[in-house]
Amino acid sequence: MNILTANSPTAELQARDAAHHMHPFTTNADLASKGARVITRAEGCWLTDSDGHRILDAMAGLWCVNVGYGRKELADAAARQMQELPYYNTFFQTTHVPALNLAAKLAELAPGDLNHVFFACSGSEANDTNLRLVRTYWQEKGQPERQVIISRWNGYHGSSVGSGSLGGMKGMHAQGGMPIPGIHHIDQPHWWAEGGDMTPEDFGLARAQELEKAILEIGQDKVAAFIAEPIQGAGGVIVPPETYWPEIQRIVDKYGILLIADEVICGFGRTGKWFGSQTLDIRPDIMTIAKGLSSGYQPIGGSIVSDEIAKVIDATEFNHGYTYSGHPVACAVALENLRILDEEGIVTRVRTETAPYLKEKFESLTDHPLVGEAKIVGMMGSLALTPNKETRAPFQAEAGTVGYITRERCFANNLIMRHVGDRMIISPPLVISRDEIDTLIDRARLSLDEAHAQIE
Ligand code: PLP
Repeated sequence: MNILTANSPTAELQARDAAHHMHPFTTNADLASKGARVITRAEGCWLTDSDGHRILDAMAGLWCVNVGYGRKELADAAARQMQELPYYNTFFQTTHVPALNLAAKLAELAPGDLNHVFFACSGSEANDTNLRLVRTYWQEKGQPERQVIISRWNGYHGSSVGSGSLGGMKGMHAQGGMPIPGIHHIDQPHWWAEGGDMTPEDFGLARAQELEKAILEIGQDKVAAFIAEPIQGAGGVIVPPETYWPEIQRIVDKYGILLIADEVICGFGRTGKWFGSQTLDIRPDIMTIAKGLSSGYQPIGGSIVSDEIAKVIDATEFNHGYTYSGHPVACAVALENLRILDEEGIVTRVRTETAPYLKEKFESLTDHPLVGEAKIVGMMGSLALTPNKETRAPFQAEAGTVGYITRERCFANNLIMRHVGDRMIISPPLVISRDEIDTLIDRARLSLDEAHAQIE
């Protein structure tokens, strides 16, 4: 077989891709007929495809390239580590320098007494760890009947059987036997779509109180944990009403339920602080991390757990782990990535400079006839597309059609935005500049105009 390169003709790359490569979350037959867009290079916030287009990546890959593309320091950290110790495991009383340093750095950054890290290779694996971790915790505490984990419809926690079950994506549950038993879903705090005539504040409280109802129905002594993203990402960047999280925190405190904050998207500066839990004033017992931990340069995830949980788990043997838990190259890259975020003041700059600028520009899109609301926290935002801003009505066309059309117009205008149903979402690299924000908004507006013209 001849090995194709980034300089090979697009048609040849696409044909080979269609013949052998099965893509995640893609209608592969559709893709084969259209041909995949082949991304060949990237620098800062910009991708280059095999036809030479320069594309502004307003999604930071999959919400992960926080420091932007092309940071040589990260490549150097990987190369150094590969030469020194390319692999060793952390099972059976062994460790290595990158893993112990990264765990200590994460303990320094994480809020409260979250001081201990169990490594995985992805957010999905980390949430699978959490599932077993919280159940084992209660078992070791002498309360083995505490097994149920409460999560939310339209939450996203990963794609493995465990994490996909924790998630509340009905399309995923319909395939492959999910959810597994012992997981209970409650409704999401999605005021725009589900709030009816309620004020956002009342709706936020009502949705949080569903947690209390569920705990009482299931039995307080049977509930192990509640898991949620501080701000739902894959569900459509759903920023909860301000009343929501304080009420959730009150309820988990009252019933002694462990709180798992899934920080896979919200973590590492995306909301303008190191963790979404700090922005939303949440006190989790466990945080799931991945994505921005290495800015996507290496596959790595993990669970940061409290002193109390670590004490209980460390008193037994936790029969769990992945061959690549704490992979030395991934840890070395993540550590260097955290150094860049920290020393270059990227998180602070997001909070004080670029996110306020982006917010102003992003919210200006609500004057567009298709845009009902613009919600944004830090560097994650969404636009609700609607035919009627007053009633917040959905389109008559099948849900997602207008979102899809808009996303396609964005692609055509060399802007990567994603659609979740009829919500358009952004999550750009944290290093995006003011000029690039202007370009993002100009291209988004043009794409909205074109989509509007197309559906009229
Ligand atoms: N948790 C959240 C909040 C996510 O957004 C994702 C991925 O998008 C995951 C978990 C799963 O992470 P991964 O795709 O690395 O398995």
